Amino acid sequence: MIGISKIKAGGHVYSVEYVDVVEPFMQRIGQVNLLTHEIRIHKDMAISKQEEVLLHELVHIICDLCKFDMSEEDTGRFGVVLHQIWKDNPDLFSREELPE
Ligand SMILES: [Zn+2]
Repeated sequence: MIGISKIKAGGHVYSVEYVDVVEPFMQRIGQVNLLTHEIRIHKDMAISKQEEVLLHELVHIICDLCKFDMSEEDTGRFGVVLHQIWKDNPDLFSREELPE
């Protein structure tokens, strides 16, 4: 598991759970409940895939907050690219000072 148990977005705290079954009777690897602020991630995936799915669910939250009408396919592509950028720039938000 990637060890992230909470994410704050739009002033709300979303809990993150790593589970064996995301949604009974449906084959899902991740899900966000925008009413209860719960994110469920399938725990039997590679760490990088869990990260990608978590960002995918975060994109759903962003779309809800911004009232963007993004398709599931577009949400998927956006999550993948966001994950790639995040992984390729791990220090993006950790710099104390910007270089001159
Ligand atoms: Zn989705």
